[in-house]
Amino acid sequence: MSARVLLGDEAVALGALHAGITSAYAYPGTPSTEILEYILQRGGADAYGGDAPVAAWTANEKTAFEQALGVSMAGRRALVAMKHVGLNVAADPFVNSALLAISGGLVLAVADDPGMHSSQNEQDSRLLADFARVICLEPRNQQEAYEMTREAFELSERFGTPVMVRLVTRLAHSRAVVRAGEPEAQRPIAHPEDSRDWILLPANARRRWRTLLERQPAFHAFTGTTPHNELQIAPGPLGVITAGIARNYLRENVADLAEAPSHLHVGAYPIPAALVRRLVERLETVLILEDGYPYVERAVRGLIPPRVAVIGRESGHLPPDGELTPDTVREALGLPLRCSGPIAPINVPDRPPQLCAGCPHTDSFHALERALAGLPRGIVTSDIGCYTLAALPPLSAIDSCVCMGASIGMAKGASDAGVRPAVAVIGDSTFLHSGVTPLMDAVAADTDMTVIILDNEVVGMTGAQPTLLPSSRLPALLLGLGVNPDHCVVLDAHPRRTTENAARVRREIEHRGLSVVVAARVCVEAARSRKRMHKETVGTS
Ligand code: SF4
Repeated sequence: MSARVLLGDEAVALGALHAGITSAYAYPGTPSTEILEYILQRGGADAYGGDAPVAAWTANEKTAFEQALGVSMAGRRALVAMKHVGLNVAADPFVNSALLAISGGLVLAVADDPGMHSSQNEQDSRLLADFARVICLEPRNQQEAYEMTREAFELSERFGTPVMVRLVTRLAHSRAVVRAGEPEAQRPIAHPEDSRDWILLPANARRRWRTLLERQPAFHAFTGTTPHNELQIAPGPLGVITAGIARNYLRENVADLAEAPSHLHVGAYPIPAALVRRLVERLETVLILEDGYPYVERAVRGLIPPRVAVIGRESGHLPPDGELTPDTVREALGLPLRCSGPIAPINVPDRPPQLCAGCPHTDSFHALERALAGLPRGIVTSDIGCYTLAALPPLSAIDSCVCMGASIGMAKGASDAGVRPAVAVIGDSTFLHSGVTPLMDAVAADTDMTVIILDNEVVGMTGAQPTLLPSSRLPALLLGLGVNPDHCVVLDAHPRRTTENAARVRREIEHRGLSVVVAARVCVEAARSRKRMHKETVGTS
């Protein structure tokens, strides 16, 4: 057994490698990016016999999940990783995959972001596992992230369904020692015994749905007996249910209580109903500690008698949003805060996040600002990427940011509503992720709007992962989608060209139909790191 210090994300990756995956797919997104990064860097070194799996960034989370499904159908193990909002994009194949006869283990590692450190919401993926009616494992620490991921592959094959491993940012992005076991060998190809189990025509789907429902008691039997769900009964009137990393916050405070509470830790879902009922047999109050939605809290209310008070996020005993902290948990336990008295304010100037110095997006927004000068107030819809920072001063250049790809559809809707000018700004990677299909709607209607694709050649915000399509092939894609060649323009997003770029963008905005402008220049951070790597390569050769 070897020990190493790993991020929670890396522990998931190592667990998957040691489970013998032959493929891993992901779309980058904080806080899940490091899962595939690790497999790309260490796949060969950590897999059994050096059998590095296929590891690839994909166009989006849906295509990632579908590729993993194909691997599973071939009888081999696959990991697919994404952030919580990415699971919305992959929800269609994910939910349907629960009805299939999963062959090779299929594990979805999804990282939620309570507190929205780098996300547009704090949705809780446990509800989507429940919605799909599949097992979800939630590690409390990095060691469990490793072990649960390995186990998830075995469970997926045992029950014939995908299994979710749910992380949260604080676990995904913190390090601890992980003791790893021996890697397993990869499985050979094995075709499905009955291909009807993979064809969700209504007659097959009804049969498979019944199969999934019939499996639910087995899922409950598993979560009722697995050591991941651990029950300790104490004599007092208070009980606590912890989920995932919330157990750590309880442990930080429990020694200060006059008497230890009864405690049920939940690390595997569906919620172990029988353990919950045993926990509350002699309790007056049960406190629920969970990061994310009040998912356990709501479920517990339906499982136990009304004489037991259920308190947590929904009852107002803990904040309804953000991450739990040792202090919020301490207050909910009725303990005085450790730190007494106000903290003296620290006098430092505000440093709001900004685009990097020299970022090509800054020059593109300057050109857009000049192009819009003197026109009636229209709308500039934006998308998700570094360029979303243009919402802040000094640029203050965009009006919206909702979800991946929304900028194009929203600009079309605004144009349909009569707003002129209607401009959408979207990065090259985000365009390939979810912008292509709304652009087809705009092409079909020749909508009076301008799409500006900010092409920096990389997925800048998550660490300069490569964009799937090289910049040189983007215009061909746009023309292939039917964009009018007279209004499909590529500009060099360099500061010395701002005046001429502004004039060209203005012409396209004034065109009464759809126009697409590609503002191209490589991300300066990516350019720097390419230069550094080149120097290192030359230096070592
Ligand atoms: S990482 Fe690249 S794209 Fe993002 S702000 Fe910095 S220079 Fe711009």
